[in-house]
Amino acid sequence: MDLLRSVKDRSDETEFYTPLPDGYRPGSVKYVAVFGTVMSGLGKGIFSSSLAKLLKDKGLRVSPIKLEGYLNVDSGTLNPYRHGEVFVLDDGMETDMDLGTYERMLDQDLTRANFATSGQIFSSILHKERAGSYLGRDVQMIPHVTGEVKLRLRELAVRSQADVVFVEVGGTVGDIENMFYIEALRELNYEEGGTVAFVALTYILAPPALGEQKSKAAQLGVKRLMEHGIQPAIIACRAEQPVVDKVRQKISVYTNVPLRRVFSMHDLPSIYLLPEAMREAQLDSEMVQLLNLGGKVNSAMDARAAIQWERFSSRIRQASRSVAIGITGKYTALRDSYASIIKALEHAGAANDCRVDVHWIDTTDLTDDTAAAAMADVDGVIVPGGFGVRGTAGKIACIRHARENKMPFLGICLGFQMAVLEFARNVCGLAGADSTELNPECEHPVVDILPEQKKIEGLGGNMRLGGQDIDVTPGTLAAELFKNAKRVRMRFRHRYEVDPKYVPQLEQAGLVFSGRHPVHPIMQILELPRDVHPYFVGTQAHPCLTSRPLRPQPMFVGLVAEALKRRAAQDNPKPQPQTV
Ligand code: GLN
Repeated sequence: MDLLRSVKDRSDETEFYTPLPDGYRPGSVKYVAVFGTVMSGLGKGIFSSSLAKLLKDKGLRVSPIKLEGYLNVDSGTLNPYRHGEVFVLDDGMETDMDLGTYERMLDQDLTRANFATSGQIFSSILHKERAGSYLGRDVQMIPHVTGEVKLRLRELAVRSQADVVFVEVGGTVGDIENMFYIEALRELNYEEGGTVAFVALTYILAPPALGEQKSKAAQLGVKRLMEHGIQPAIIACRAEQPVVDKVRQKISVYTNVPLRRVFSMHDLPSIYLLPEAMREAQLDSEMVQLLNLGGKVNSAMDARAAIQWERFSSRIRQASRSVAIGITGKYTALRDSYASIIKALEHAGAANDCRVDVHWIDTTDLTDDTAAAAMADVDGVIVPGGFGVRGTAGKIACIRHARENKMPFLGICLGFQMAVLEFARNVCGLAGADSTELNPECEHPVVDILPEQKKIEGLGGNMRLGGQDIDVTPGTLAAELFKNAKRVRMRFRHRYEVDPKYVPQLEQAGLVFSGRHPVHPIMQILELPRDVHPYFVGTQAHPCLTSRPLRPQPMFVGLVAEALKRRAAQDNPKPQPQTV
């Protein structure tokens, strides 16, 4: 700490360059840094968010940050097929899907301060360099780039007033891309006298031909982290099956980590069962001890939270009935591109005491004639968001089938727009109704880019991003779902919208716009009246982004509830009146 005090005033003249934000007291904030070894995709975000949740349950204030290695400034331009879904925060930041995991697990809204990429770090450094902020010094990876990383972490600590900042480093130890993050965290720990608890996730191989778990790859992976001067305090071993004691012992011996802190993070039926598994292994109290935070723990609050979570997770474990929900889309091959929808369905399933089985419906070649067969074994259907024309004709065919056959339907963003087109074409008789995204020359641009509309909100002609308020029309299905709330808030990510010019015609034919922008004519929720269809709902927003395990999103809860009713009616059909 003396080190920091002495460098603060002359940080540009020494090798100890380490800018501190105003109000930061070194040593007063604790950090947990999570790294992955051996391979990517181990679930660092799931581990880190579950542990953070357990500390939050104890009354500690936590704030997570994901440090991405890639050079993009945000995730907005990333292909969800390669990188998973783009998660949108309330402040409009487009981030990695892991931020969704944190928001859900912590039941906490995050901001752009919780997400950093190499692109952001370097662009900030180049900006400072052009502004002459480095006072003639050569700008180097160490100390300037690492200094910028530490600055971001400390700024988050100040802004969030956190007791513990959880830092997840993207990628795998050994990547060139994240090396400076690892180095920055080592420096942070050194400068602040040991305020960082390091966690390494690793993978235990179990080659079927050998029939046993092997620890070598894990040992080598963790060793790689130690080469960077980092001694892990906890090791989480990912594996298909529970990790056997012999393997845990080996890892303990090779890495100086006590056996009780070598955790078997084997596959579970749901990620929501992980917090309990961690509690059972007492990983939460180990972490409290490591960070020396025992004095701040509120045991009564912890016990209450544990009971509440147990109630939720036992519903996931014990669901005796199930429904099948179809999801249409272009990225049917990759579940990660619809991660939030799948999670929202899991929350809605727990709320309805049932398991939700997801069926993928590839709409690429679907037509009105083949839609019925493709949807034969689902009890409800979601048409999710997307971009571009591919598969949209098939989506419209699915919506038509759902509308005409009273199948519960939820349209999300592009799915909402497609529901409007389907209704305009097949009910209003506007054969040329289209979206200018799909057909710029169409006769009836019912869905269009309306730059003047966006200007009013101060968003220019670009994507409408982030949280927006929605006024809900009293007496509608939407009002019922939202328990008569007059105003709700959801997150948006779209460029096109319903042209208000067509709204009277659509409404006359029976479509109800039950959620609108509080001031401007922007249509945000649509529905069919209950006497026409049991559950036909759409929204221009992405309701899945704000669904939380203990606060499931009402539009998903409603969909699953209606799908259950449909399933029950099909399983026990009403006796038909006898005709003589
Ligand atoms: N492509 C549509 C638009 O830009 C819908 C976007 C989405 O589904 N996220 O408006």
